Amino acid sequence: MTNTARPTHTREIHLAARPVGAPVATDFAFVERELPPLADGEILVRNTWMSVDPYMRGRMDDAPSYIPPFALGAALEGSAVGEVIESRAATIAVGTLVSHFAGWREHAIVDAATATPIDPELAAPYQFLSVLGTTGLTAYAALTDAAPVRPGDTVFVSAAAGAVGSVAGQIARALGAKRVIGSAGGPVKARKLLDVFGFDAAIDYRGGDLTEQLADAAPDGIDVYLDSVGGEHLRAAVEAMNQHGRIALVGAISGYNGDTDRPAPDLYLAATKELTLRGLLVTSYLPLFAEYIPRAASWLADGTLRTAETVYEGLDQAPAAFLGVLTGANTGKMLVRLE
Ligand code: NAP
Repeated sequence: MTNTARPTHTREIHLAARPVGAPVATDFAFVERELPPLADGEILVRNTWMSVDPYMRGRMDDAPSYIPPFALGAALEGSAVGEVIESRAATIAVGTLVSHFAGWREHAIVDAATATPIDPELAAPYQFLSVLGTTGLTAYAALTDAAPVRPGDTVFVSAAAGAVGSVAGQIARALGAKRVIGSAGGPVKARKLLDVFGFDAAIDYRGGDLTEQLADAAPDGIDVYLDSVGGEHLRAAVEAMNQHGRIALVGAISGYNGDTDRPAPDLYLAATKELTLRGLLVTSYLPLFAEYIPRAASWLADGTLRTAETVYEGLDQAPAAFLGVLTGANTGKMLVRLE
């Protein structure tokens, strides 16, 4: 089936140079390219939203990791949603809304087997890149499996005004936490933790000593910590943990631009407190979507879960959005609207 309005060309963003330290605008190149005819089994998607995520910084380095580096001179990749405007796949019809992994471009040709139809009745399409996507799933996997929350726990969440953190604080509460503490950069975000995302206590990590602020916020200690930051945050959390505490190692954004001069946690303290520190990759939890999506959708519907997005407009703004997510320009999920 062919749509008569099929574009002949599209624009995409390539990695022009590997950043040294923080990325800069010249690390990205805008490229116009022809859209070839579809092969059997492919679909053409008009992307309407794309995600920018902190982990993409690691893929810009030419270093071995859990996911291959971005190639120089090729289009960047990442999660996106859009509308199928041409299909040579029996399984996905024109007009279907899908999520897929060919973001950073206005149109994408993808193998239909790698695209997932999304249900617009369940939530707005962009929410499949945020609360109903891998960011929400990361929070859920962290707090139900890697560092499970038990009723009555005190839970600490870092990067708490961000995509994973803002959802995690609310999920912790829904799972029975007694006290939920978040940290974020600056007084405005700290206020939002209390007023928008329902945290009991908020720490502005830029506003004073983190260890002291955490001790004040958690006088009875912490049982669960979701670590998105590493460095000073992880060190302070280990100090504040209760016996048999659980830590989900989700990310370490304070080091993503290569800052190696960061404090390390006291692992002897972790040993004597009998802590569990467990890493997680959300890609290992994709089957958990089947449990998470209906649960999160009902939490969204009944107001248990409130979400926020920071939206940059148009492909031209995608590099700025990405630089912004690394420096805290976002509250909730950082997204780029392409429609
Ligand atoms: P996000 O929290 O929406 O955005 C990143 C936030 O990190 C920024 O808004 C900023 O908030 C904070 N930040 C930046 N530099 C910091 C620093 N030096 N110290 C403290 N905070 C800093 O991003 P996200 O997508 O939800 O990801 C959060 C974390 O989870 C990241 O570490 C990411 O890599 C990780 N993650 C891991 C997985 C997995 O599978 N393991 C999956 C998804 C995400 P402030 O303004 O508060 O500083």
